[in-house]
Amino acid sequence: MLRSLFAPLPPQGLRMTAHQPTLDLRDGPRDECGVFGIFAPGHDVARLAYFALYALQHRGQESAGIAAADRDGYIITQRALGLVSQVFKEHDLRALGGELAIGHVRYSTTGSNQWENSQPVHRSAGAAGNRRELALAHNGNLINAVELHSELREQGVGFSSTSDSEIIAAMLAAHPAASIEDAIADVVPRLQGAFSIVVMTKDRICGFRDPAGIRPLALGRLGDRYCLASESCAFDIIGAELIRDVLPGELVSIDDDGIRTRMVAESSREALCVFEHIYFARPDSRIGGVSLQAARGRMGELLARESPAPTADLVIAVPDSGNAAARGFARASGLPQDDGFVKNRYVARTFIQPGQELRKQGLRLKFNPLPEIVGGKRLVVVDDSIVRGNTTRQIVGMLRDAGALEVHLRISAPPIRHPCFYGIDMHTREEMVAHGRTVQEVSEHLGADSLAYLSLAGVYEAIGGERSRHCDACFSGEYPLEGTDETQSKLALEASLPMASA
Ligand code: SF4
Repeated sequence: MLRSLFAPLPPQGLRMTAHQPTLDLRDGPRDECGVFGIFAPGHDVARLAYFALYALQHRGQESAGIAAADRDGYIITQRALGLVSQVFKEHDLRALGGELAIGHVRYSTTGSNQWENSQPVHRSAGAAGNRRELALAHNGNLINAVELHSELREQGVGFSSTSDSEIIAAMLAAHPAASIEDAIADVVPRLQGAFSIVVMTKDRICGFRDPAGIRPLALGRLGDRYCLASESCAFDIIGAELIRDVLPGELVSIDDDGIRTRMVAESSREALCVFEHIYFARPDSRIGGVSLQAARGRMGELLARESPAPTADLVIAVPDSGNAAARGFARASGLPQDDGFVKNRYVARTFIQPGQELRKQGLRLKFNPLPEIVGGKRLVVVDDSIVRGNTTRQIVGMLRDAGALEVHLRISAPPIRHPCFYGIDMHTREEMVAHGRTVQEVSEHLGADSLAYLSLAGVYEAIGGERSRHCDACFSGEYPLEGTDETQSKLALEASLPMASA
């Protein structure tokens, strides 16, 4: 029997819609989603999931959710718009309880920011006595979502959201295979795109990655129990240890008997998102055995060697995304480094509009320059990426207003010129400042004295990885998956539905 908090309306107090105006102070690429799963009878799994999601908050700030179950068959799901700390209170975690749990934080990569699209998705299907109930959390983006959705609707399958994750949940719930593992093995080859997924039934947790392994997923151990997470920083916070990355195309199943793995799909090539190394993943996470903080420092060192700034006398970072690379740049160039900005660490996005009076203050809500540090200086300003350029232009202006004599931008990634269809919110070339512009033209557009980007070769040297095993399509335009095309935007599924135009 299913007991669920899966209600048709968002909980009181968290009722936000996609139409509510927000002031988004982020100009970089938006993270996609974070997932977590744990099978640990004897532990407070809902609380562990809460703190794991807290560690993964950087991967999505629009909604958060946890599904938990006892092995006697109850699955409880709670999810809402907002940050992890806003969605869950102490009494929620007590009510969730359970022996196994999955969790999700979301930035909407498919479907708009509505409560219905928050996760974990909770589905059940099948006749009484042979009913499969599951909850699913997904990081990624299916590039064949429109086709699968229309095929399922023709078969009479109903949907309550416009997220591709519900498609996968529906396919697994309705699958006739006796075990969830066999259902996953049959469904995965039909999915195209990027997906790292955790699924729970009432007695087990399964995790699996797409055959190219575009989005990360790691396996951890807590005592004699196992857990799964998008990044290893989620293990650190709950006292678990990283065992290894789940392999591309691998299915890991965790239950009372421990852990079993099998390959459910093969690919001609791996294609881990190289942007995870540059920006998305937390610097204290490890991917492919590589410490991201150390890799980002090396990116800064290589950037200094490739593109020095001979007239500069001080290196500063755009906090926090440029911190590690700025330290590396300073190390390699021999220039001193200091903090040029103080950052308001509690601003990710605010739902309160600044109003006319404060509008011109713009980015000062997030960054405040320090005139005593930057005044009279010829600065190297290091950041990890530029997408739209609006924030970077304001940063350059603020530094000049604070007395900087020169501003030399150094970016520890190549120019972003192509959309991502694999779970990152960069959908059109037109939104990218580097699209159709030379580096010199971008520099002039941003008001900088000079601008230089790290080469793609430099990125791979810094991470110690092979290009043939990564995706770098937003830099190179070379998409690793067949069938990728530019109609596959975040809202493609919504746009294909009759209700979407209403
Ligand atoms: S296109 Fe860019 S952001 Fe998207 S998966 Fe590839 S490397 Fe990552």
